[in-house]
Amino acid sequence: MSRAALTIDLDAIAANWRVLAAMGRAEAGAVVKADAYGLGAAKVGPALARAGARRFFVALAEEGADLRAALGRGPEEIYVLSGHMAGDASLLREAALIPLLNTPEQWTRHREALPGHPFGVQLDTGMHRLGLEAKDFRALRSEMLAAGPRLLQSHLACADEPGHPANARQLARFRDLTADAGVPCSLAATGGILLGPEYHFDLTRPGIGLYGGRPFTAARAVVRLDLPVIQRRRVAAGESVGYGCTWTAGRDTRTVTLAAGYADGILRSLSGRATLWAGDVPCPLVGRVSMDLLTVDVTHLAAVPDHLTLVGPHQGIDDLADAAGTIGYEVLTSLGARYARRYSGRDETGQA
Ligand SMILES: *Cc1c(COP(=O)(O)O)cnc(C)c1O
Repeated sequence: MSRAALTIDLDAIAANWRVLAAMGRAEAGAVVKADAYGLGAAKVGPALARAGARRFFVALAEEGADLRAALGRGPEEIYVLSGHMAGDASLLREAALIPLLNTPEQWTRHREALPGHPFGVQLDTGMHRLGLEAKDFRALRSEMLAAGPRLLQSHLACADEPGHPANARQLARFRDLTADAGVPCSLAATGGILLGPEYHFDLTRPGIGLYGGRPFTAARAVVRLDLPVIQRRRVAAGESVGYGCTWTAGRDTRTVTLAAGYADGILRSLSGRATLWAGDVPCPLVGRVSMDLLTVDVTHLAAVPDHLTLVGPHQGIDDLADAAGTIGYEVLTSLGARYARRYSGRDETGQA
């Protein structure tokens, strides 16, 4: 079999959630947008629900409907960050999703299309990306509060930089906008949880920390990625490897060719920069990342194994992100659909 194996540890995700949930007195939700950061919301969602998560966050109503199918009609609430878009009403109703309204137009649409249906409000406190602006919220505040929102939330732009002045500024604006509203409030994602309890309010919204990424450096690793060796070869000094002949052997070299490439989310910017691991021994990638293949120098190995590890105990998602010049979020959400995905954990039987 030449499919590379992506192993996702559901127990580690649940353990990370428990640690983040125990960091303050606030309830912890769970952000599972983008198919649980590429790891599979249909598996991750139920695992988090078993761990005790009750409020889930997705980006789109369509994602919410898929998550509802995986969770069933239990006590779990599913919030939609993009709010109530035209055409969403039947999905929101049928899957019992709670839109976080972002604009006056969404508020009007929601009241007209789904009167009485639960909603929350997302407020812009300075990120200027998504959420009701302060002046619009002040204008609508009394009628919105009269309709009983489930949640008032906002999002921090710089939570992964604890010393950044935007954090305190957004905190003060959020406090000001939500004062005396009598509605549960939420400001902190993973980075905000780590900023301290004054950022926690009633509900936190960890995402990346659940999946083992920075800034939650104490997280348990969640992902392992093993790539099978398809071919071994000798490359003589002076011969080159891969597209563009960007790497030329300086000495007689033994290489292996592995069955994964940029079509699997192994970013092409890793060309000539990544390290793979044969157990505890590092092996450098040589030449460019191809669509389906990687080539690795294994001259120094006593024996060539049947696979090399790209993400594992010696190299986490953030290490790989550093080598590629990106962030762990992008490494995870780029993972392709072609892997043999295996879910490990208490409730799993193996292959998924
Ligand atoms: C993505 C997102 C989160 C989760 O952020 P992490 O940094 O992954 O913890 C929380 N809230 C909102 C509004 C988001 O868009």
